[in-house]
Amino acid sequence: MTFDASTIDIKRKPCATIVNAIAVICNGHTTADIWRQVLERVENDILPHGSGFDQGCTINIDESMTNTIGEPRKIVIDVPYHVMNSHGFYVGWLSYRATVTPSFSGICVDVVCDEMPDCSYDGPEPEYDDEPCGCLCCAADGIDDLIADTIYHALLGE
Ligand SMILES: [Zn+2]
Repeated sequence: MTFDASTIDIKRKPCATIVNAIAVICNGHTTADIWRQVLERVENDILPHGSGFDQGCTINIDESMTNTIGEPRKIVIDVPYHVMNSHGFYVGWLSYRATVTPSFSGICVDVVCDEMPDCSYDGPEPEYDDEPCGCLCCAADGIDDLIADTIYHALLGE
């Protein structure tokens, strides 16, 4: 039997496809290389690109494994994000990790950043709606929710 990665429909049920791929890869099945290519297709064609997701996203196979018999209970996605402040300037990169788990309504996406810096601003007190601080942590306010929302919709499938 031969099949190749391009024949797998990744758009209809992305999460099921990812979970299946991870299980096959971790079991060391002979088709593991093909399923690695399927995951690359998901990263390229399903997961977000551009608008901050300037390096794309990476499915973290090792972190997605939660037991020893090859059954992923979650999908872990590494998300480097290019943060822009309210003045439209890029102020740095932050590494986020999205964890996708099954829920009664479909999927649940949790996003964390382990390396969020503290605010580095020590200038005068800002006016009520002024935003003098362009530091990375303040510019990143709400980015975790944006990433969760974007990945949620990307993984819903067609
Ligand atoms: Zn700040």
